[in-house]
Amino acid sequence: MASNYQEQESLYHQNLNHQIKDNLEQQQTPINLPNDLSGEYNSTEVQCANCRKIGKSQIRCEANKWTCLYACVLSPIFICFVPFFINSCQDVYHKCPNCQIQIGFTEHNPC
Ligand SMILES: [Zn+2]
Repeated sequence: MASNYQEQESLYHQNLNHQIKDNLEQQQTPINLPNDLSGEYNSTEVQCANCRKIGKSQIRCEANKWTCLYACVLSPIFICFVPFFINSCQDVYHKCPNCQIQIGFTEHNPC
């Protein structure tokens, strides 16, 4: 009778330990996402520093002087528009999909 009670008690403690361990593991799981996308040319998963929401950044590309230069260089072979469709040939602004705040800026500069 006594041994049965001890067995139950040790089982109870084991379960308790498991629960504590699970809770600790959940708390320790880091949200390892960037909150500044400077240097990224493509839409990237981000945690907004302003609203703390997680999502893919909205990007807006803007041609800069280099984009125009590539277009001039490519114009003899009629593909001068191509640099305007390539993110990495332009300046890229990242915005939060939730609050629309700017969360990164990548300037295209080949030098
Ligand atoms: Zn936000």
